[in-house]
Amino acid sequence: MASDTRDMLGRTGLTRVDKALSILLAHLGSPDPPVETVPLSLALDRVTAKAVLAPEDLPSHARSTMDGFAVQAADTFGATESMPGYLKIAGEVLMGEEPAFEIRRGSCARIATGGLLPAGADAVVMLENTIPVDETMVEIVRAVGAGTNLIARGEDIGKGCLALPAGHRLRPQDLGLLAGLGIRRVDVYGRISVGVLSTGDEIVPCTDTPPPGKIRDINQITLAGLISRAGARPNLYGIVSDQRDLFFQAVEKAAAENDIVLFSGGSSVGMRDLGEQAIASLGSILVHGVALKPGKPVIIGIAGTTPIFGLPGHPVSAMVCFDLFVTPAIRHLSGHHAGLDLPEPFVLARLARNINSAPGRRDLIRVRLHRNGQGWTAEPVLGKSGAITTLSHADGYFLIDEDSQGLTKDTEVKVILYL
Ligand code: AMP
Ligand code: MG
Repeated sequence: MASDTRDMLGRTGLTRVDKALSILLAHLGSPDPPVETVPLSLALDRVTAKAVLAPEDLPSHARSTMDGFAVQAADTFGATESMPGYLKIAGEVLMGEEPAFEIRRGSCARIATGGLLPAGADAVVMLENTIPVDETMVEIVRAVGAGTNLIARGEDIGKGCLALPAGHRLRPQDLGLLAGLGIRRVDVYGRISVGVLSTGDEIVPCTDTPPPGKIRDINQITLAGLISRAGARPNLYGIVSDQRDLFFQAVEKAAAENDIVLFSGGSSVGMRDLGEQAIASLGSILVHGVALKPGKPVIIGIAGTTPIFGLPGHPVSAMVCFDLFVTPAIRHLSGHHAGLDLPEPFVLARLARNINSAPGRRDLIRVRLHRNGQGWTAEPVLGKSGAITTLSHADGYFLIDEDSQGLTKDTEVKVILYL
């Protein structure tokens, strides 16, 4: 094995990112979150627990999609500007009301966009293709085929058709579909809970003023935000001592109380083994050390059905490992099947400078995006992996694969966006 896949202790055997992820996913049980029924107003970003079928046709009646005249299409056949057709105006469709009249051969009715198509009509002639004669008569100067300028009953979605599959994260437009179908409550999976511990005797709560030698806890609040964004519920355990017994107890408690556990800190030599031992005492280690920068020292384990992640202490490394490994685990255990297959939102951008990368390792380069004519330039945000500004000042990141030794300026890169 090449020296670049040795870890910081000189140990070989770093696992490639893709392999680490597939090992993790292969060990996750099938999702089993409880099902909750929530009103639409609280359903945003929740994941459907069951397929939703349309309980009725949408729209429930044919509606006009134009301002104009509702007609029988056959009455317009052959109509042109030089040879218009003449139709008698039978009435006007009032918005929000069911017309009391019927359209017979030779007649029509005024109708606005969204108006309910009167019985007998099968098309709408746009206002622009008509010329008023008087209150009772209109000239039609363009022929329309049946079905023109209207949305048929059930054309949006028919009764009994699949509105949303199970395992689908509800976006605003999905809630709109449910609202349109008259569905007021939806069955969604309960949010899974993710326990978060920060370790390290140098870490103090972010609300404290740290004395020299100590630093504020950055990871707890960052990870909590990432967990919420991924659709789960953060369960914060604060700062746990590096002392073996206290640390073991804290991890065990968190594993018993949550669906997933994250601790951060523990990539230092002493603590590194402690993190591994804590997971091993409850279950087994799946991966320790990934060919990834930043994020190499991550530990992935499982206790029963609960994945436990020992994230690196460096805030940047912790977030990178969260994005690459914890988010997929949350989606899987949350029943968010579709989310595992969809690409993250990205833009293509031209690299602003050359970037080197060690072979055998995947590098994650944080970048700032700048507008460049029609496109974007990706400017790497440089800094140590301990510098949180390299994330806060970044708009996204791109990856340099294991087999690449770097990229030259102006190469097109796929920047995954930090939303
Ligand atoms: P470790 O993984 O414990 O070796 O930590 C690597 C670096 O990250 C050290 O400089 C730690 O002080 C720092 N660190 C660890 N945990 C946190 C945290 N919760 N917030 C901010 N920095 C941290
Ligand atoms: Mg530490």
